[in-house]
Amino acid sequence: MERTLSIIKPDAVAKGVIGKILDRFESNGLRIAVTKKIQLSVGDAQAFYAVHAERPFFNDLVDFMISGPVVVTVLEGENAMQINRDLMGATNPKEAQAGTIRADFAQNIDANAVHGSDSVENAANEIAFFFSEREIS
Ligand code: ATP
Ligand code: MG
Repeated sequence: MERTLSIIKPDAVAKGVIGKILDRFESNGLRIAVTKKIQLSVGDAQAFYAVHAERPFFNDLVDFMISGPVVVTVLEGENAMQINRDLMGATNPKEAQAGTIRADFAQNIDANAVHGSDSVENAANEIAFFFSEREIS
């Protein structure tokens, strides 16, 4: 059974659509193994998005990710990583397909509602960043 990490970002938490987004996962065959709402520190956000450290948008991305609480969730199911990426839609919500989470709930490329692991290998690292194995059922 494959696992992936989802983050409902501060914009979507502030809009009050946590339940609607979690429903997209469950309605599309993904199981919620564990979920929690947390406030990221600057260090958390910098470490989590370290691959983007050299990008011009890095500081804005970190500022945005700490601007309010986020909901981190481990999703489980066959092809969970790709199914979640498909449900999310394109990084820029203006390019996201109708019916995707970003098309329906995101405002722009900075505040784009959700994060999802982009490979099974990255998913394992991102899950370990937020959860211990005994928290995941
Ligand atoms: P995420 O990693 O958040 O799931 P993603 O995999 O679709 O999103 P990445 O390329 O990993 O996109 O970028 C990480 C985040 O950085 C994006 O979600 C977005 O908020 C921000 N970002 C990416 N590209 C840009 C850009 N050109 N300008 C501004 N922000 C950007
Ligand atoms: Mg990414």
